[in-house]
Amino acid sequence: MASAPPQANCDRCRAPLVADAAYCDNCGERTRKARRLVRLAVRVELLFIALVVVLVGAFAAIYYLQK
Ligand SMILES: [Zn+2]
Repeated sequence: MASAPPQANCDRCRAPLVADAAYCDNCGERTRKARRLVRLAVRVELLFIALVVVLVGAFAAIYYLQK
């Protein structure tokens, strides 16, 4: 994984962050680490949706071909 140093200050208000915090205590801005996790979660979700679409399409094709 990337070895970026942990984020010490909020990107928006520059307030010091608690170690491993997901949100800034001062303004509520998401930390870089939390944003990365959200992007990863969105990617996994899109992959899952694509998988479901492919499966539904495959079953529909099988059903159509069996008639
Ligand atoms: Zn902040």
